Amino acid sequence: MSPPNNPIRVVRRLLPGDRVVVVGAGPAGLTAAYLLAKEGHSVIVLEGDDMVGGISRTAQYKDYRFDIGGHRFFTKIAPVEALWHEILGKEFISVPRLSRIHYNGKYFDYPLKAANALSGLGLVNAGLIVLSYVRSRLWPNPVEETFEQWVTNRFGRRLYEIFFKTYTEKVWGIPCTEIRAEWAAQRIQGLSLAKAILSATALTKRSTNIKSLINEFQYPRLGPGQMWEACRDKVIGLGGQVLMRHGVTELEMSEGQVAAVHTETPDGPRRFEADHVISTMPVRSLVRSFRPNAPADVAAAGEGLKYRDFLVVSLMLDQENLFPDNWIYIHTPGVKVGRIQNFNNWSASMVPVPGMTCLGMEYFCFKGDGLWQMADADLIAQATRELAELGLANPNRVRDGAVIRMPKAYPIYDSKYRQHLDRVREFLDPIPNLHTVGRNGMHKYNNQDHSMLTAMMAVWNMLGASHDIWAVNTDFEYHEEQKIEEQHLGSALAAR
Ligand SMILES: Cc1cc2nc3c(=O)[nH]c(=O)nc-3n(C[C@H](O)[C@H](O)[C@H](O)COP(=O)(O)OP(=O)(O)OC[C@H]3O[C@@H](n4cnc5c(N)ncnc54)[C@H](O)[C@@H]3O)c2cc1C
Repeated sequence: MSPPNNPIRVVRRLLPGDRVVVVGAGPAGLTAAYLLAKEGHSVIVLEGDDMVGGISRTAQYKDYRFDIGGHRFFTKIAPVEALWHEILGKEFISVPRLSRIHYNGKYFDYPLKAANALSGLGLVNAGLIVLSYVRSRLWPNPVEETFEQWVTNRFGRRLYEIFFKTYTEKVWGIPCTEIRAEWAAQRIQGLSLAKAILSATALTKRSTNIKSLINEFQYPRLGPGQMWEACRDKVIGLGGQVLMRHGVTELEMSEGQVAAVHTETPDGPRRFEADHVISTMPVRSLVRSFRPNAPADVAAAGEGLKYRDFLVVSLMLDQENLFPDNWIYIHTPGVKVGRIQNFNNWSASMVPVPGMTCLGMEYFCFKGDGLWQMADADLIAQATRELAELGLANPNRVRDGAVIRMPKAYPIYDSKYRQHLDRVREFLDPIPNLHTVGRNGMHKYNNQDHSMLTAMMAVWNMLGASHDIWAVNTDFEYHEEQKIEEQHLGSALAAR
């Protein structure tokens, strides 16, 4: 199935008095609602959960606050940056960043640097890595469709097996031969093995200089959820509504447009008439919600979209300064934990108990699998054991723990997803008053800034602009940033 040819679709223009329904109170939904409310439009946000922020929420356990996976705020998109500051003001702090890779008891730079990787693995390993790299340059894989082919062609098989395969398969739960190359292209930064090999000194230099790795990111003082709680309050302050425990179950269609949105609430079903719907709910759920039902092949394509789920085990230890990193990637084989956050190093206000450290042990899983089903106490015991096995803390210092499960944390880019998504888009794109935005809303591996930008563009399009929302990806800013900045920053984030 070929992708839709014309990326600019026909959008119903937003008129004064129109009712806009936004599905989901995560970063994308609340961004759209805020921009609309600021322009004086009537907006209702329907959120299935009982807290705002979506995956970017902040969970709370006793006095401790923690993210669903550390959420740093970093963007090159000026309107997004401006909006973050507008919403949070002085509560938006700058945090020094350090993140490294843990592999068999050693630390490696993250993002991976060739010289550091080669020197840290020892001479024999470095030699083998160089040989396998040369082999892959001389005889590359003729096709580059999978993650494995893409990475081995650039870095050689041996480096791929040490630094890419284990962690990537932990994250996705499927073999790297089934993950699309485009995910690698989107996420893996340039890494010049050739340069490192040519530099004779690079092999002898151990780059353990922590200072050189540190840069900065921004972060709400009380965690990412603080941004979205403040945004919700602003939306309500401007006359909008944000209704919690309103899970959307049906989109009622009439004459090719959405006419109303149906929800389940603790008080029973409700129906909201809508002139426009901005949806951040997962594409699969959206397709399921059509009434009348979506055509059978579209429904099948929707069902073909897959998600990876996630859980975080927070451990509270009565010990300070365990390690200087904000987070550590665990590439060491033999443990299930994928990443470890140290929330003390994100914001002291997240861990307000003197002498204590709060770590977030992150596990990638599928809803219903062994990890997901495990009792909280067993997960806490496992996380404590793994922390000790990795040599990162004394297990006897663990005083408490809490578990948060997050379904559909990652849209999966498997070998069929593109074909399925294209079919779904062919069905959705012609609906002029339905706008799909955000991460799961577009089945795109977007960070907050890109999730927010898609929401902004949807609003700008409703107000008369013609942005191609589907073009937003990690390369986006390099091509489009300037244009967006010129068009929208000066106009208080509204369309002209
Ligand atoms: C482990 C991890 C780490 C991350 N780290 C970062 C980071 O460091 N920096 C960064 O910028 N981004 C990070 N992200 C990405 C970030 O979480 C997302 O980009 C962002 O939350 C997406 O916003 P969204 O509004 O599109 O979707 P979501 O956050 O998924 O919000 C969607 C909302 O819609 C609601 N919803 C779903 N279905 C329905 C329904 N039927 N009815 C009503 N409501 C519904 C959900 O409950 C949710 O509240 C990370 C993600 C993960 C998983």
